[in-house]
Amino acid sequence: MEQAIEQKTPTADLLKKRPLIISGPCSAETEEQVMQTAMRLAATGKVDILRAGIWKPRTRPGSFEGIGTKGLPWLQQARKASGLPVAVEVATGKQVEDALHFDVDVLWIGARTTVNPFSVQEVADALRGVDVPVLIKNPINPDLELWIGAMERVQKAGIKDVGLIHRGFSSYGNTEYRNAPMWHLAIEMKRRYPELLMINDPSHICGRRDILQEVAQTAIDLDFDGLIVESHIDPDNAWSDAKQQITPEVLGEMISNIRWRTEDSASEEYHAALEKLRQQINNLDDELMQILGQRMKVAENIGKYKKDNNITILQTNRWNSILERAFAKGDKLGLSKEFVTKYFDAVHMESINHQNKIMNS
Ligand code: PEP
Ligand code: MN
Repeated sequence: MEQAIEQKTPTADLLKKRPLIISGPCSAETEEQVMQTAMRLAATGKVDILRAGIWKPRTRPGSFEGIGTKGLPWLQQARKASGLPVAVEVATGKQVEDALHFDVDVLWIGARTTVNPFSVQEVADALRGVDVPVLIKNPINPDLELWIGAMERVQKAGIKDVGLIHRGFSSYGNTEYRNAPMWHLAIEMKRRYPELLMINDPSHICGRRDILQEVAQTAIDLDFDGLIVESHIDPDNAWSDAKQQITPEVLGEMISNIRWRTEDSASEEYHAALEKLRQQINNLDDELMQILGQRMKVAENIGKYKKDNNITILQTNRWNSILERAFAKGDKLGLSKEFVTKYFDAVHMESINHQNKIMNS
């Protein structure tokens, strides 16, 4: 297996291409699957780097945890045959060593590793003195400091070529996403570290195929540098993340269908700026809804209490004091009395309805 690779792309150039498109299976499964995926991706002409998970950090034990080191020679062969450099996720020092031994071109640190400074440090220590680009996924929880900390640990180990992958944040409860994008956090990272590559991972944000295109488009509209998208020769039968994978050909179409921003175009700049502001509005609206939902839960608890103690729902004094408080606050925040009244009436009515249901149940 110790084959010399004659035409290796210089490390420093691997992440330079814009847009940078990385694709490949969630997991390497068989030699044949890896080779076919690589060849079909290369044939689309849209892909710059082949990705494949070799060691899979799965949330629950018992599911497929990756093919392990024996998959690395498959990647080496696929790389040679397709001409695509390869990227692999690493979470331990040993995995870094193994990946580098088999000529992996790009390493990435996964979301479940970024959360743990001990693991990140172990990976960083194994990278000391090595010239390889490293991509760092955001941690699964919405904490920028952890993301920044991981980046600093890797940089301190001497890695020059560091990039970021935005893959969304896990949230409790059902949403339309597997991992909520929370675009504002990625935007804030881009604002703080404008020189770093930032690509988007719509696959792990969506968790399903049907909304991949729109999430990818949002990322491009927000001026991301590229995408990492999972693809598989037989997506429905993939050994991991089956629901979110697409065939190499669908991936090719998806990339073609993206409306790419062109440089030096005033209207494109304007569009990107507008999109950022719209995302801020969406995030704030989401937060408001979340908080309103919580408010109703508290109202229901009050309903339970009133029921147990035989108290009426509406208590006029309490309502007046809520309104007085709101007017005073609203005034400081530039909200008109008219708006505050309408808003509180609506919220209050909804609360009463929730309480009513509890008290009459
Ligand atoms: C992956 O890329 O397959 C993966 C495990 O992703 P994440 O670390 O974003 O969950
Ligand atoms: Mn995956």
